[in-house]
Amino acid sequence: MATGKINVSVENIFPLIKKFLYSDHEIFLRELVSNGTDATLKLKHLISIGEAKVEYGNPIIEVKVDKEGKKIHIIDQGLGMTADEVEKYINQVAFSGAEEFLDKYKDSAKDSGIIGHFGLGFYSAFMVAEKVEIITKSYKEEPAAHWTCDGSPEFTLVPADKTTRGTEIILHIAEDSLEFLDDSKIGGLLNKYNKFMPIPIKFGTKTETLPKPEDAPEDYVNETIEVDNIINNPNPAWTKQPSELTDEDYKNFYRELYPMQFEEPLFNIHLNVDYPFNLTGILYFPKLGTDMQIQRDKIQLYQNQVFVTDNVEGIVPEFLTMLKGVIDSPDIPLNVSRSGLQADGAVKKISNYITRKVADKLKALFNENRADFEAKWNDIKIVLEYGMLSEDKFYEKAGAFVLYPTVDDTYFTLAELKEKVKENQTNKDGKIVILYAGNKEAQHAYIETAKEKGYEVLLLDSPIISHLIQKLESDNSDLTFVRVDSDHIDNLIKKEDKAISKLSEEEKTSLKTSLESYIPKTYTVQLEALDSKAAPFIITQPEFMRRMKEMSQTGGGGMFGMGNMPEMYNLVVNTNSDLANNILNTEDKTHQEHLVKQALDLAKLSQNLLKGEALTAFVKRSFEMIK
Ligand code: ADP
Repeated sequence: MATGKINVSVENIFPLIKKFLYSDHEIFLRELVSNGTDATLKLKHLISIGEAKVEYGNPIIEVKVDKEGKKIHIIDQGLGMTADEVEKYINQVAFSGAEEFLDKYKDSAKDSGIIGHFGLGFYSAFMVAEKVEIITKSYKEEPAAHWTCDGSPEFTLVPADKTTRGTEIILHIAEDSLEFLDDSKIGGLLNKYNKFMPIPIKFGTKTETLPKPEDAPEDYVNETIEVDNIINNPNPAWTKQPSELTDEDYKNFYRELYPMQFEEPLFNIHLNVDYPFNLTGILYFPKLGTDMQIQRDKIQLYQNQVFVTDNVEGIVPEFLTMLKGVIDSPDIPLNVSRSGLQADGAVKKISNYITRKVADKLKALFNENRADFEAKWNDIKIVLEYGMLSEDKFYEKAGAFVLYPTVDDTYFTLAELKEKVKENQTNKDGKIVILYAGNKEAQHAYIETAKEKGYEVLLLDSPIISHLIQKLESDNSDLTFVRVDSDHIDNLIKKEDKAISKLSEEEKTSLKTSLESYIPKTYTVQLEALDSKAAPFIITQPEFMRRMKEMSQTGGGGMFGMGNMPEMYNLVVNTNSDLANNILNTEDKTHQEHLVKQALDLAKLSQNLLKGEALTAFVKRSFEMIK
């Protein structure tokens, strides 16, 4: 029997590692199954180049839990190790690997969120085991070896009688890790980390019902057999070529990824690049409402089909973290912190690639089937609008497919919209006026007035729309966006035949004085000579102030304190209306006040501003009037 002392200063690293990775002890299984997978794939390679002259067969990896014996076995049929190789790879490589890992990890441990903890490898077995055995037989004609170690530098290495090729790792589970002897715990971990690994993984058996034979008698009872329970799909969709996959395949894979999700994805984007970095994956656009938070953290990151994390922050541009799907790239460094990740050149390239690819796909979808794209617009707009705001590269491409719907569901691109309205909708500065509403119900009266005049009114209702409008205006100096209720429509859009005032200057002053004496100071009275058919009183909310306020409420506006500003309203009074004349010519002060207050309340009602006590009083007063 050979015993020995591993020649590295590992004496104290085990407790340290265990402590650092306290919440991640479970990764031991991922690491050991990965080693088994690597050993199997290496053998396949050696056979393919004629180096190993053995039969490959149909190798699997088996995970077994022995609850009584407090052991977990991980058995592969890979290339195995000779005693010399155990000495070299386990005693030296694995242990020094652990030391190296600790070195790297120590510095970034304070920097929260190391993304993968890859690199610890075999040594992670000691996070849950008090003793580890390796029984291994190389594909080479050499006797099997049996290595035993309790995590200290002392080990034993003796010959073993194993005759089949491959490696069995036996973990003697430590008292503080007995939870890992639970079948459902191990099943859960395999499902989390190993669901798409490239070599079949067996965990127990399951009962399968055999099909009923053609000539089965009436009273035939279906036969059942016990078969291996293979927990993974070794050939997930993202590892295939897009040309091999149908729409149904993509949908099936989505269901495989999110078994609890009943809604179908809207469409998918297959990522596939091997230069200058390696990346594959499939991203799905789920149905999104206007809630920007709820869907995050659904993209899973893999490395060579091994699950790493479902927090892809820093790898995928932020706006795309609202999507779902998988990304697989061996080129993403995993034992660095998130801040380190953002500084990494390769990661930046990957992120840019994903952005570009998503933009290209959206453009293709738009061009191939515009009607379908329009139908999906409301479910995807939040991602696209957020992308335009946060990624310049995306913004540059977005003009080709981002849509601006009208209140009547006609969808324009910005270029189309400009073309459509440039003749009919300009303001006094010669800018093209884009009219929009934020809420079809609340701004109904204003929308109707604008439509009656033949103007296009968009419906822009995302929570971040004010930011986007701001950006669009600063990039298109010929455009201005105004909400339908931001001023009287005839002030927003230049009209050739603007009405002339029938009132003299004196009369105007007198009217204004009367109005101001009855109207709260929060309103600015604005006299306008409008079409005699226009509403006599309307309340407007100036675009600029409202937009700034909205921007500060949805963040990123940089307008400190704006969120707390009072609402600012104008009261536009049409001096050509009969009501204005009536008010002006009423001698009786009480009656005059009555007219103004009733008119103001009606205007408020139309802007959704009449509430509570004021609304009750208004209703009561109105009933009195028609009694
Ligand atoms: P890594 O896998 O990152 O190289 P590990 O510490 O996991 O580091 O393993 C060290 C080495 O031990 C591996 O490189 C491999 O040569 C050998 N090894 C580990 N597990 C197995 C196995 N199941 N079959 C064959 N060789 C193995």
